[in-house]
Amino acid sequence: MLRGVVSKTRSVQGIVQSAIDIKKWLEEVPGVHEVRPARCTLCRAPSRRPGHTLGIHGHGLVRRDVWGPVEEGETPEFWDLLIRRYRCLTCLTIIRVGPRGILPRRRYGGGAIAAALALWAVFGQEPAVVRDTVSPWRHVAIETQTRWASLGRWAFAVGEGHLWPLRRRLPDGLPAHVLAATAVRALVARLPQSTMGPLRLAEVYGAAHGERGRV
Ligand SMILES: [Zn+2]
Repeated sequence: MLRGVVSKTRSVQGIVQSAIDIKKWLEEVPGVHEVRPARCTLCRAPSRRPGHTLGIHGHGLVRRDVWGPVEEGETPEFWDLLIRRYRCLTCLTIIRVGPRGILPRRRYGGGAIAAALALWAVFGQEPAVVRDTVSPWRHVAIETQTRWASLGRWAFAVGEGHLWPLRRRLPDGLPAHVLAATAVRALVARLPQSTMGPLRLAEVYGAAHGERGRV
């Protein structure tokens, strides 16, 4: 199915995020016409110019790791995500386009990170149990079996607004699990069908995949 050019995009670590979510993208990489950027991210030249040929051409695919489950209940995996590349004929820069739901400088997918923070900080699961649910790594050093340092790192990153844009800055000095719980609830609250009821993990994945990661 052709969807024309991507009109609203954000750039994450040099990857423009299309409107297509990570689940759909992993099932089938969209065609070159479906996610062609509307403009060059560098020189802003338009892709489509009336009376001219295309200004941004497809330039093949490149692999990027995405770790973790994509939906609730799935086994965590090491996913090979194929990112589409384009070349701007005006300035010759290469533009990479991927799905929503990937985050800058993170190998884990946005849904996996949000789910891990929810399981730990909202549902009160032990870090080792959360890691078993979210991490694709099956072998863990004995000295770190009861801990998972990623949780604390993600909590502080989310508190700083580095993973998802925050509508409001969180107060300084909050403990990691409070930052994590607050950020997960704020993420889910943006869903159109969000209610004030108990948090559901499926909603956490959905909210994270619906977000374009913070640039
Ligand atoms: Zn350009």
